[in-house]
Amino acid sequence: MSQRPRVAVAKFTSCDGCQLSLLDAEDDLLAVCERVELAHFAEASSDLQPGPYDVALVEGSITTEHDAERLRELRRQARYLVTIGACATSGGIQALRAWGDVGEWVEAVYPTPAFIDTLATSTPIAEHVLVDFELRGCPISAKQLVTVITALAEGRRPKLPSHSVCLDCKRRGTVCVVVAQGTACLGPVTQTGCGAICPAYNRGCYGCYGPMPQANGRRLVDQFQRLGHGADRLVPLLRNFNAAAPDFRRESERLEQAADGGAS
Ligand code: SF4
Ligand code: SF4
Repeated sequence: MSQRPRVAVAKFTSCDGCQLSLLDAEDDLLAVCERVELAHFAEASSDLQPGPYDVALVEGSITTEHDAERLRELRRQARYLVTIGACATSGGIQALRAWGDVGEWVEAVYPTPAFIDTLATSTPIAEHVLVDFELRGCPISAKQLVTVITALAEGRRPKLPSHSVCLDCKRRGTVCVVVAQGTACLGPVTQTGCGAICPAYNRGCYGCYGPMPQANGRRLVDQFQRLGHGADRLVPLLRNFNAAAPDFRRESERLEQAADGGAS
């Protein structure tokens, strides 16, 4: 990699929140700018330089054919491609279209539906091109993003923790909302990144960092059912920002089928 790696930040279907996390990094952002050249970052500058790039940070999911083609071109231009956020890593909240009729929604929302050209799916970046590293969260943690950029600038593979939110609760001394109150909380199967904010404010986690590796969602869901939570509570809990992440998707569909009288 060159002395000062060239970085591009690209957006597909998303809300821009993850890109804003980089601008939000405050003092750390100055350190990042000394180490890398932000060659293409529309949120920060209208000086958009062409590739090739050393690193492409990609936000958003793929919801149009045009997106897919643009992504393939970016992959050709980038040495390393890193996805940032739930949209890019699992399809985001827009992946809820998997359980609905896109045509009906387009008719209901847009005054001129004929102008809308969209796929029936919202898919993560890794379903289309090779991804070198995935950064979770909705939005991502600015601290984790700076860690990733710094590692890549130094030619190292980024390393981030992948334990559960649950462990962070224990570390900060937060009383467990599942044990103490029987709250349905996805903390035991959700990857760390936020510092366990929600349980600290006496509410359950709804999984914005997505399932941790080897999450045992089935056992957790079984326990929530024993605590009296039904599919009407648990399916929406699993279908948040990472609804299409395979571990969450599988459990939400199993619950739905069981509620409809199908196989459990
Ligand atoms: S992951 Fe969340 S914050 Fe990031 S772009 Fe998608 S919706 Fe916005
Ligand atoms: S929902 Fe879960 S992962 Fe998201 S901020 Fe709250 S505790 Fe953290």
